[in-house]
Amino acid sequence: MPKAAMPVSSVTMVKQEGLAEHADLTGCPWHDVKSKLRDVGLRPTRQRMALGWILFAKGDRHVTAEMLYEEATRAKVPVSLATVYNTLHQFTEVGLLRQVAVDGSKAYFDTNNTEHHHFYVEDRNDLMDIPATDVVVGKPPVPPEGYEIARIDVVVRLRRKQG
Ligand SMILES: [Zn+2]
Repeated sequence: MPKAAMPVSSVTMVKQEGLAEHADLTGCPWHDVKSKLRDVGLRPTRQRMALGWILFAKGDRHVTAEMLYEEATRAKVPVSLATVYNTLHQFTEVGLLRQVAVDGSKAYFDTNNTEHHHFYVEDRNDLMDIPATDVVVGKPPVPPEGYEIARIDVVVRLRRKQG
């Protein structure tokens, strides 16, 4: 394993709320996106459908708004960068995506919304999943009164070994 810098954790706390499970996935990406959106109460507009299809049809991955915008443009989806931002944030709010903040300026969105942690290669701006078999988190902190821990995100920053 490459030498890692100190892990940086961010703990997200939200009040408890239920999330609908998506029940009727068929394996058809277009249909699946539609039911994904419906299940979380988002109207399947053309833009959400197109962006959702680009996002979710390729398995688990990490994208920035700029990356998705570029893919959408290449796929001839007429959409602005602002719309891509808004859509990514809407998808995140309803739990379809997880946002992974690696620094102040760059947010990655993860299509794998199950709990897992990340390596971030600083000089390549590359985000990778840490295998679930690797234990990253020890004893979690005690949340303030009225809150529970929604999830714990750990980003382990990597750099090339010196010399
Ligand atoms: Zn991930």
